[in-house]
Amino acid sequence: MHDFCIIGGGIAGLSLAAALSGHAKVILLEAEDTFAYHASGRSAALFIKDYGNHTIRQLNAFSEPVLNTIDAGVLSPRGLMMLARHGEERAFKTEAAAFGLDDISIKEACAMVPILDHAKLACAGYTSGPADIDTDRLIQAYLRKARHNSAQLLAKARVSHCDWDGAQWHIKTHHDTYQARIVINAAGAWADDIARLCQVPPIGLVPHRRSIARVPINYDCTTWPVLDGVNETWYAKPDAGQLLISPADETPVTPHDAWADDLTIAQGIDEFQSLISPEITQLTATWAGLRTFAPDRSLVIGRAPENPHFFWLAGQGGYGFQTAPAASQLAAELLLGVKPSFDTDLIAALSPERFSK
Ligand SMILES: Cc1cc2nc3c(=O)[nH]c(=O)nc-3n(C[C@H](O)[C@H](O)[C@H](O)COP(=O)(O)OP(=O)(O)OC[C@H]3O[C@@H](n4cnc5c(N)ncnc54)[C@H](O)[C@@H]3O)c2cc1C
Repeated sequence: MHDFCIIGGGIAGLSLAAALSGHAKVILLEAEDTFAYHASGRSAALFIKDYGNHTIRQLNAFSEPVLNTIDAGVLSPRGLMMLARHGEERAFKTEAAAFGLDDISIKEACAMVPILDHAKLACAGYTSGPADIDTDRLIQAYLRKARHNSAQLLAKARVSHCDWDGAQWHIKTHHDTYQARIVINAAGAWADDIARLCQVPPIGLVPHRRSIARVPINYDCTTWPVLDGVNETWYAKPDAGQLLISPADETPVTPHDAWADDLTIAQGIDEFQSLISPEITQLTATWAGLRTFAPDRSLVIGRAPENPHFFWLAGQGGYGFQTAPAASQLAAELLLGVKPSFDTDLIAALSPERFSK
């Protein structure tokens, strides 16, 4: 019998498998042929410390030093420039303050990113803080640690039934049945479905589709910052010599293998195109992923009030990578009964109990 069975092999499940392994007998079951196939294989790979609500920002702050050291560091400098059109000046001021941006002149913005069209811009702000996350290396680091500590990590293992007999869980996949003391729900967009399988009430998690297009650009954009519209209406990020452009869509959907909606992508490109001089004529790829949020947009970490043998690690939304070190450490501490490194208000703000009051 296993101490812990983690359902879901994205960044949430893999980081927790690494944290628990070495302390307990761990099995992780992933439905797809490969790990990190869904949201964790489709992110923009950014670390923005001031992104998300107060609870998320505390997790970001805790995670940053870990991301700077794990596997010799998976963060690299990127920076962020927010751009406002004429008429957006007021919203820009509020947003720029929330992100701690310094005002820069349009001339400075255009010097940094020469494709920008001076005439279209009203104001710009910049911070050097945001970083790229090497998400592949982060995932590999967690996989290596978990495997080294003998955790059993199984792909092609879709959980179809989960029964609690009063002493242990019986977790069924197409091929086998596994026993565990505690089930951990790290199933991303499917986390509410897994709760139902385990006879635990769902939380009301909602997957939201977000689309990205990769666009070739005839400039060396390696050192450009992320470019961001006011109120996250679009963003563009240099990636391997091209630009990733996202309309920053947040369309509520049911859990599925997401794909980009052509019209949404076209609208995002149109927004970006209206601020730059060169014409975008080609897309080299498009994709979409699901960002799954709890009603209050904070992660859900803790035992289900209805069954303490069922543990939530869900609702990572748009912050699953940048919060992974903190979220997995807190989850492991709660599961192993170790004194948590986090204050009680933060633990309460993340606990599933907040939804049963
Ligand atoms: C376009 C986009 C941009 C993003 N940008 C960023 C960013 O810049 N920075 C950041 O920190 N985050 C970002 N995110 C968010 C981040 O990618 C997610 O928060 C994170 O990947 C969620 O990880 P997860 O492990 O919870 O979910 P997932 O990666 O979706 O993993 C859940 C897994 O559970 C498995 N599963 C489901 N049901 C079953 C079952 N019955 N049996 C077994 N397995 C099952 C699924 O197959 C899946 O692999 C972005 C997301 C998107 C979509």
